[in-house]
Amino acid sequence: MKIGFIGLGIMGAPMAVRLAEAGHELCVFDVVSVATQPFENNPRCRVGLSPADVAKGADFLVTMLPETAHVRAVLFGPDGAAAQMKPGAMIIEMSTGDATACVPIGKELADLGLRMIDAPVGRTPLDAANGTLLVIAGGSESDIADASSILNALANEIVHAGPLGSGIKTKLVNNYMSMVGMVMTAEALALAGKLDLDIPKTVHVIQSTAAGRGQINVNFPNKVLKGDVTPDFPLRLGLKDISLAMELAKSVGAPVNLGAAAQQLFALAEPWGRSEQDCTAMLLLLQDIAGGSPVSRSRDL
Ligand code: NAD
Repeated sequence: MKIGFIGLGIMGAPMAVRLAEAGHELCVFDVVSVATQPFENNPRCRVGLSPADVAKGADFLVTMLPETAHVRAVLFGPDGAAAQMKPGAMIIEMSTGDATACVPIGKELADLGLRMIDAPVGRTPLDAANGTLLVIAGGSESDIADASSILNALANEIVHAGPLGSGIKTKLVNNYMSMVGMVMTAEALALAGKLDLDIPKTVHVIQSTAAGRGQINVNFPNKVLKGDVTPDFPLRLGLKDISLAMELAKSVGAPVNLGAAAQQLFALAEPWGRSEQDCTAMLLLLQDIAGGSPVSRSRDL
């Protein structure tokens, strides 16, 4: 397989090395010469002069770039790759970029006779080096199957999320939770610090309950996602507990901004008729408020 690879950063460089080691004919490109240098002496690949040069004759072009603007630039900018690719060749867009741009880019490529899948990755640079990434792919079954020898060289788990654009949407939902969780975790530990608690013991306690084990692993799959909102712990008591914690935080001046937003949502459970339902019915409450819920109130009760 002849593969072009653009973006040799923290993730891209070890991914490109894996593709070269898997025996593919590889041509790589990056705007920064320190990024291309390690590939100069790699007998398994060639360093291209431009995106266009990398794309010439390639069956696949992998992009692993910081943002969608960079992806657009390498595909459609001066010396861009898209105009040089042969009909039927495929772009595998693996960056974490703008999900709303994915389908329009796919359409522009399709107009040139090219195929595209979005295949952003989860996990770490070490996983990139070991070929143990999680790929979250969007595109047609047949395109993802055609790309499988490349994806399998990079990942030990491939989730086909749905049609083009679904991979990056799923990845951004995942990252939303990951990044908000970062703030929530920091808020909780900063509160513990302000209360002069023993941090290792507090961490141990949090790790031992649903707080740390993850609502997504523990309560959500067992309750609301199964259609069961009978109260193991009702939203009414959730409001009581978060209010107690907020009062405690106020007494020591700890910043609990996410907590304030969460407290307001718990307080809405009563007027929306859900205060006696399980805390995981927070999902249904948000769907009520958001409107257009896929789950109607009468059905989920
Ligand atoms: P990085 O900044 O280390 O690397 C990006 C590379 O792209 C750089 O070498 C840069 O010179 C190159 N580049 C930028 N513009 C270019 C252009 N126009 N043409 C050619 N090359 C260009 O980023 P990274 O950590 O490798 O991440 C790449 C993508 O993967 C990002 O979208 C990131 O959010 C995502 N991601 C990163 C991680 C991680 O742990 N680092 C994990 C999963 C996903």
